[in-house]
Amino acid sequence: MKLHERFLNYVMYDTMSLEGKDTVPSTPGQKVLAEALVEEIKSFGIEDVRLDDKGYIYGSVPANVDVDSPVIGFIAHLDTSDAHPSPTPGKEPRIIEQYDGGVIQLDSGDKLDPELDTGLKNAIGCRLIVTDGSTLLGGDDKAGVAEIVTALEYMSTHPEFKHGKVAFSFTPDEEIGTSQDNFDVEAFGADFAYTVDGADFGDIEYENFNGASVTVEIKGVETHPGEAKDKMKNASLIAMEFDAMLPPWERPEHTQDYEGFYHLMHINGDCSSCRMSYLIREHDRDRYEERKAAVKRIGEMLNARYGAGTVTVEIRDGYRNMAEMVRPHMHLIDFAKEAIAECGVTPRVPAIRGGTDGAELSFKGVPCPNLGTGSFNHHSLTEVAIIDHMEQCCRAILKIIEKYADFKGEKQN
Ligand SMILES: [Zn+2]
Repeated sequence: MKLHERFLNYVMYDTMSLEGKDTVPSTPGQKVLAEALVEEIKSFGIEDVRLDDKGYIYGSVPANVDVDSPVIGFIAHLDTSDAHPSPTPGKEPRIIEQYDGGVIQLDSGDKLDPELDTGLKNAIGCRLIVTDGSTLLGGDDKAGVAEIVTALEYMSTHPEFKHGKVAFSFTPDEEIGTSQDNFDVEAFGADFAYTVDGADFGDIEYENFNGASVTVEIKGVETHPGEAKDKMKNASLIAMEFDAMLPPWERPEHTQDYEGFYHLMHINGDCSSCRMSYLIREHDRDRYEERKAAVKRIGEMLNARYGAGTVTVEIRDGYRNMAEMVRPHMHLIDFAKEAIAECGVTPRVPAIRGGTDGAELSFKGVPCPNLGTGSFNHHSLTEVAIIDHMEQCCRAILKIIEKYADFKGEKQN
């Protein structure tokens, strides 16, 4: 089966994940796709493919070379975002042959304009897949699933293709942030891995934000405003003082690339109490710690001014920048760069201004950068998958596998 046919088959499965459910996976549709994938992969003659009761697929293809090379894994997620529903019969995605660089009219009346959508500029002359404008396409991450499955099929039908042991996994609930909670590193069995998820083909991502969430509780003292002198402490005004001490240029709307920020997510209060929540994001570990220390110091300073216990600052660490786990194993990045260049595309290594599943896995001992899949406008009705780029991504996966076949370097596990 051709890669894009496989992709068009997967996107018809409704695998939307939903927050607040007490089942794993969060929705049954994800397991339905997982079961179909297991059957498909078995049909290639791959024997080691397992679906666990939580909807995770793990499997491997044994080495066909006699080299003690590391086990390389590939991971994609089964679920799609809850921003919009999946395509349904009658609302199937359509293929645009040889995109001419013009405006694309969707059936819904929405348009895709290359002037606004710079991703389209890289797609001139390519075959594209779009929706009718009323559904998600689901390229995030069924593009990644289709690319890995197609690479597995290639390996099983081309015994002359030399490779070490290759592991694979397809996971549920990535979009709701819980896919790593139940990920079984041992069942996966890889020394190193790549997530194949989101982003333009050619992008290799291994630097992400360190992220923390901060809750600030402020207790005020409310009195009758006419008798407030030397008594009232207005919690909302103290909150404004708190925020005024954070540098205004270090906000999401004024930062890019490696610049970190404080983001005021939520504020709610009156004279007697006020509650604020912030996000802290920063690539550099030391500066991340400094940012956390800064919000603590502001709280202490305001307590010195208004009395102990006025301001309580609580900080929770979220994800960590995987760069520190990947840097000791730069062959992961070097091989990916070479593979992408050999597919005729200039590799890019952008810093992610967010988190990624591979980050958590990297800290569990499996360094895991991300490869872009060749689809874009994720979570939106104007999603596009570029068939040519997806095929290149599949080739790049195979080239990476090939490079590791005679890599005698380190093994992790
Ligand atoms: Zn994704």
